[in-house]
Amino acid sequence: MNIPQSSFPRVIIIGGGFGGISLAKKLSKKEMQVVLLDRHNYHTFQPLLYQVSTGGLEPDSIAYPIRKVLQGYPNFYFRLAEVNKIDTGAQKIETNIGAIGYDYLVVATGSETNFFGNQNIEAKSMAMKTIPQSLNLRSLILENFEQALLTDDLHERDALMNFVIVGGGPTGVELAGALAEIKKGILPKDYPDLDTRRAQINLVQGSDRILPAMSEVASRKAERFLEGLGVNVWKDVRVLDYDGKQVSTDSNTSFETATLIWAAGVQAVTIKGLDAKELLCRGNRLKVNRFHQVEGFKEIFAIGDVAQMETESFPHGHPMMAQPAMQQGRNLGENLVRLVDGKPMKPFVYKDKGSMATVGRNKAVVDLEKFKFQGVFAWFVWMFVHLYFLIGFRNRLVVFINWVYNYIRFDREARLIIRPFKNEYKTSKSRRI
Ligand SMILES: Cc1cc2nc3c(=O)[nH]c(=O)nc-3n(C[C@H](O)[C@H](O)[C@H](O)COP(=O)(O)OP(=O)(O)OC[C@H]3O[C@@H](n4cnc5c(N)ncnc54)[C@H](O)[C@@H]3O)c2cc1C
Repeated sequence: MNIPQSSFPRVIIIGGGFGGISLAKKLSKKEMQVVLLDRHNYHTFQPLLYQVSTGGLEPDSIAYPIRKVLQGYPNFYFRLAEVNKIDTGAQKIETNIGAIGYDYLVVATGSETNFFGNQNIEAKSMAMKTIPQSLNLRSLILENFEQALLTDDLHERDALMNFVIVGGGPTGVELAGALAEIKKGILPKDYPDLDTRRAQINLVQGSDRILPAMSEVASRKAERFLEGLGVNVWKDVRVLDYDGKQVSTDSNTSFETATLIWAAGVQAVTIKGLDAKELLCRGNRLKVNRFHQVEGFKEIFAIGDVAQMETESFPHGHPMMAQPAMQQGRNLGENLVRLVDGKPMKPFVYKDKGSMATVGRNKAVVDLEKFKFQGVFAWFVWMFVHLYFLIGFRNRLVVFINWVYNYIRFDREARLIIRPFKNEYKTSKSRRI
């Protein structure tokens, strides 16, 4: 890996996401050699992925080069690498570019889509956890309309314009709202020769309310916002299977669709060598103590989505969100310095700053500790918070300009099929005209 030996202890961080970057920044000027490894050379701002999928933002504006975040930090090394194995006995990791030893190891690998073992759904549905996946989804949505225009089979045309989103958490709600706005504001102008009124957006939620992690008032209001936009909200319905055409559920509802978007679950990204059953909790998260130490190890830590720290207030671990990951990264940074200095570490205490979701133009829901509000003000708060946490001045500026432009023009100009996604949907009767 071409990383020199140093008299300072070596800290390896796996993952340049919210947790990994916060930690690395905290260690930037300390007497430690910091090695950050990620399979991408950029940090992804996942909360805005749905805007890339729906043509509201270009992908570059929600990605940021990891090397630039940490430019000029002494004793800092970034390597573009996929970590394949952790040898906890020898204190070294194996990657696709070689092996390297560590004094301290921090696992900050985040999470991936959980299909709960359903291979059909995994193979045929669209996930939205990374920028490449969002670009695939963007292409597929646009290709569907292009294809709908070419078929004389009404059944096929409807299926191409029928979108089924599984999962009523913030991702599903935000995506459904954005698609509904496209249907209303953009499709009739882009496809005047297609009856786009027939396009359907279905949001399927397994429990009795959408946004279950938020307050009841936020759930109710978000549902009303979605219905106002024409989204069909299906509650208490569980999707069982998808063969690429038909979505079957545990109720008497089924959907004929060319696009099933799976936003119904996540699980932690584990690495071989640190994936023994006894180390893992629900969703494959690594069980850690109040100092982020993985159970049974003094020198291995985990933060962010991959870590489960059970406390009195959070008996099932902290929410898999950006705030806990960032706060944990900062806390661990301070603790590693204390550890090296021979001082006792400080236990992590999560400060819950609230949660929010947007449904569309002028429509959002915000739950803070003391206040809960919805509507236009909530939407401005949502935008401000997302701009604030985006990394990089250019990204903030570009996103801000895009949002102002989209707001004034009722538009989303990044609706481009740059990298086509293979859409295999076709009925036996279909014929191209
Ligand atoms: C669509 C979507 C919308 C979201 N919206 C919100 C929101 O509105 N608000 C909110 O708070 N949270 C939101 N989240 C959740 C939030 O993004 C995550 O909780 C957060 O990213 C977790 O941070 P992390 O550092 O644990 O992991 P991540 O930010 O996911 O970073 C993990 C990093 O590890 C790297 N990595 C993984 N495995 C390896 C390996 N083997 N080798 C090398 N590198 C590896 C990955 O490339 C990645 O860069 C959303 C997530 C998604 C997917």
